[in-house]
Amino acid sequence: MEIFAPKETYPGETRAALDPDAVKKISGLGGKVRVEMGIGADCDHTDKEYREAGAEVIDDRKSALGSADMVVRVRPPDEEEIRLLKQGCLHVSFLDPFNQKDLLEAFAKQGVTAVSLEMMPRTTLAQKMDALSSQANLAGYYSVILAAAEMHKILPMMMTPAGTISPSRFFVVGVGVAGLQAIATAKRLGARVEAFDTRPVVEEQVKSLGAKFVKIDIGETGQTEQGYAKELTPEQLEMQRQGMARICAQSDVVITTAKLFGRKAPVIITKEMVAGMKRGSIIVDLAAEGGGNVDGTVLDEETVTENGVRIFGHGNLEGRIAADSSQVYASNLANFLEHFWDKEKQAFGLDLEEEHLKGCVMTHGGAIVHERFREGGE
Ligand code: NAD
Repeated sequence: MEIFAPKETYPGETRAALDPDAVKKISGLGGKVRVEMGIGADCDHTDKEYREAGAEVIDDRKSALGSADMVVRVRPPDEEEIRLLKQGCLHVSFLDPFNQKDLLEAFAKQGVTAVSLEMMPRTTLAQKMDALSSQANLAGYYSVILAAAEMHKILPMMMTPAGTISPSRFFVVGVGVAGLQAIATAKRLGARVEAFDTRPVVEEQVKSLGAKFVKIDIGETGQTEQGYAKELTPEQLEMQRQGMARICAQSDVVITTAKLFGRKAPVIITKEMVAGMKRGSIIVDLAAEGGGNVDGTVLDEETVTENGVRIFGHGNLEGRIAADSSQVYASNLANFLEHFWDKEKQAFGLDLEEEHLKGCVMTHGGAIVHERFREGGE
């Protein structure tokens, strides 16, 4: 089975779908790995390292896309590149399927089996292949590092002969994978951390990290079977905003990570709430790519409000630490291949009835097959 990892072409994308360790693992299974020349340039791996790990390094991207039995990458391809894939090819990447219906149709038309990694069911077994979590974890870490580097204050309390500097106050809104890592990182750096999530199960996790869980009574909330938050009613969102305004006003840094899987992110922090914040305080909106949790977030930009609050709407924060984010992404991919590898056939064993594959295979045999996206689906 020929597996090809092209260099990412999405503007600003620094990650690579495979690193040399993953190449070694997949080659060990019996896969013939090919990578595009320069694939690791932005995540600190040379072509030589890939060759030594067992990959063939090629510079003809088009013909490699056309001959591969499997293509792996980080970002979704464009339609032009989908048309280069051969019929029956397996394509594995993030696909953003809720916003990229055209791509699903293009994959189906081309007869490609497209796997959307963000749709991987969240079972215990799937944790090793859960790329959404591996990337969110690092984005959460980096949101704190970004704030720490940009703010005009230090994070820990410092008692010096010149007086005492009080610790910075962080407020993390949304305590999923990214939020938990943001809390842990800010705590390690000495900040005072508060956090809020609509899923009550999170309170214990927040406390176990030594942070304070902010209690806001917004009535009945909950989570889906997959562990994702349910959408709040407009009234509940308003109650949440009122409860949070005071905390935002006293925080030096607010990190928002509140996403709703498959839907636009809720706007939780309004212009009025930002106007009530202190000059010099920072908001890092990790939900920026999904529309943003903050009224005023501009994707991939820093915005400064009239009262001197800086809002960072940068997407792909994990891409700023591409060596590690590529390592864990590549490991998720290699685990995915290993888990479903058919040793006899020396190829990926595609069983569309298998629970995990059923959850993340979008197209197959010329059609959109996923129940949520096919004709008449949800
Ligand atoms: P996510 O990125 O979709 O959302 C981030 C957080 O925002 C969630 O905790 C969500 O509850 C919260 N949120 C949504 N609306 C909000 C609002 N209005 N106000 C405040 N917070 C709001 O979620 P995620 O981080 O990908 O995952 C959520 C949970 O799923 C994790 O905490 C974990 O418990 C679970 N999970 C399980 C597995 C597994 O079992 N394999 C893997 C990964 C995650």
